[in-house]
Amino acid sequence: MPLLDKYAVFGHPINHSKSPRIHQLFAEQTQQQLSYEAQDVPADSFESAVQQFLEQGGKGLNCTVPLKELAWQRAEYLSKRAQFSKAVNTLILQEDGSLLGDNTDGIGLVADLTNNHSISLSDCRILILGAGGASRGIIEPLMQQSPKNIVIANRTVEKAITLSHDFAQLGDIKGFSYENIKTQQFDLILNATSASLTGELPPLGQNILAKNGCCYDLAYANKPTAFVLWGQTQKARKSLDGLGMLVEQAAEAFYCWRGIRPETSAVIDLLNAERA
Ligand code: NDP
Repeated sequence: MPLLDKYAVFGHPINHSKSPRIHQLFAEQTQQQLSYEAQDVPADSFESAVQQFLEQGGKGLNCTVPLKELAWQRAEYLSKRAQFSKAVNTLILQEDGSLLGDNTDGIGLVADLTNNHSISLSDCRILILGAGGASRGIIEPLMQQSPKNIVIANRTVEKAITLSHDFAQLGDIKGFSYENIKTQQFDLILNATSASLTGELPPLGQNILAKNGCCYDLAYANKPTAFVLWGQTQKARKSLDGLGMLVEQAAEAFYCWRGIRPETSAVIDLLNAERA
């Protein structure tokens, strides 16, 4: 029997990752012969785990919390979007044995918003909550959709300001504290904090979502997150979580590795049915 091409997701913790299931579904759908496993890799073993994976014939990796920055450092080459984000979620083995680092999170988010949920980003006033790795990954792909502006709000305001400066060349991007956004209004609020993972909600004012505005939590869970529920109380036109983004970023990684783009809607429908 021929050896299967080997892929994996590294992260810590990793036991609840849906990525092996998603890539298995993609492989079946596109009739690709490959294996994809989740491996628990703490930050201090990242380097040796990558080495071992490559020695065992590994062809590509996904990296998740807390490894995206380390993956960015490890990659010999970087895609344009990974250069901007300073975080890598996809490593692709090149023919010469080097690793190309890419970041598919942002394009995954944009695909979910625009293709799956028909949310137009053109001329949109976008608020991003949080200034961590996920925020870094989504700003450039969002700016490519020509929004009116992007505001970043973060608990540690200095990080929001630094982030806005890092991306200032792309357009109107500003960093604020939560206090200072209470009098502003937005058409789309993206929760890129990790607050939902502990059932918390960032300190948001009551009137910051514009009429017909939408809310989107990058986090996802079997039940609606605190932020998705908050969006509903604000009468958001749509209040969504990040399961679709997860599938879309995986599809882009699959395309980077295999040159074939899987169809995502059936996989999203299946995962939604499984958590219902
Ligand atoms: P980081 O740890 O890099 O950043 C976390 C951010 O959340 C920081 O800005 C932090 O603020 C803020 N934060 C944490 N707790 C709170 C709180 N209680 N109130 C307000 N702000 C808070 O995480 P990532 O950027 O990597 O990930 C963020 C989220 O995005 C996670 O939920 C992750 O699961 C999700 N994600 C989803 C993806 C998908 O495919 N659906 C892909 C990538 C990420 P401070 O700086 O002040 O500490």
